[in-house]
Amino acid sequence: PSAPPLLELRGISAAYEQVEVLHKVDLAVPTGKVMAVLGPNGAGKTTMLKVITGLHQPTAGDIYLAGRCVTGAAPVDLARIGLCSIPEGRGVFPNLTVSENLWMATYRGVSRKEIEEKVFPIFPRLEQRRNQAAGTMSGGEQQMLAVARAIATNPAIILLDELSMGLAPLVVDQLYDVVGKIAETGVTVLLVEQFARTALAVADLAAVMSGGRILQVGTPDEIAGDLHSAYLGG
Ligand code: ATP
Repeated sequence: PSAPPLLELRGISAAYEQVEVLHKVDLAVPTGKVMAVLGPNGAGKTTMLKVITGLHQPTAGDIYLAGRCVTGAAPVDLARIGLCSIPEGRGVFPNLTVSENLWMATYRGVSRKEIEEKVFPIFPRLEQRRNQAAGTMSGGEQQMLAVARAIATNPAIILLDELSMGLAPLVVDQLYDVVGKIAETGVTVLLVEQFARTALAVADLAAVMSGGRILQVGTPDEIAGDLHSAYLGG
C-alpha cells in the first residue's frame, strides 16, 4: 500500500506565445522518493519545472501538492507549503559568506544555529568554508551551497534542474551522493538531467521526456535498459 504522491501533474500542457511545448503531461512523484526526469535539449524539462514552481502558467491540466490542488499558485505560496526549487545556474550570493548564504533561509523561522546543525553534518565541506565568500568557491561547492540552502528551509520536496551542468564528473558524483543523503532524511526529490548515468544511480524512479511528452516511467534499471541514446541527446 503506497502513500499518495507528494506531487502530481495531471494533463499539464504549456505554451510560449501560442506554441505548445508540453502536451498533456501526467507525472506522479511518490512521497519520500527521488524521481529523475531525463531527456534531450528542448524536451520541455525546464518548462515543466517552471510550471510546477508557479513561474509559468499551464494552458491545461492541474498540479497537486500533498493532495491539494495548487494550479495557479504563486511561487512564494508554493515555497511556504514546502516546495523548494534550485534553478539551473546556482543563485548563491557571491559576496556573502557560506554561513550568511545559509542564514538567508531563516525567513521560515528557523534559527541560525539550527540551520547550521542541520546542514553541516550533510555538507562537511561547507563547514570548513563557512567564512569564505561564496563567489570564491568552486562551481561544485557553490552548487552544494545552493542545495544546502534549500535543505535549510525544511522543504517537503526539492526540485533540481541540471545539477551537473558545467561540473566535472567527480564533482557531479559528490553532489549526487548528497542528493542521496537528502532523500534519506525523507525529503522528496524531483530532478531533471540531460545526462542519465549519475541521476539514474541515485533515483528510485525515472521518467523519459522528449518533445514535450513523458514517453516512459520506470525503475532506473528499466529505463537504463530501454533508453535509446537519441533520448539523451548523445
Ligand atoms: P534544456 O535541457 O535545453 O534546458 P529542456 O528540456 O529544459 O531543455 P525547455 O527549456 O523546457 O526544455 O524547452 C522546451 C521548448 O520550449 C523548447 O522548444 C524551447 O525552445 C521552448 N522555450 C523554452 N523557453 C522559451 C521561451 N521563454 N520562449 C519561447 N520558447 C521557449
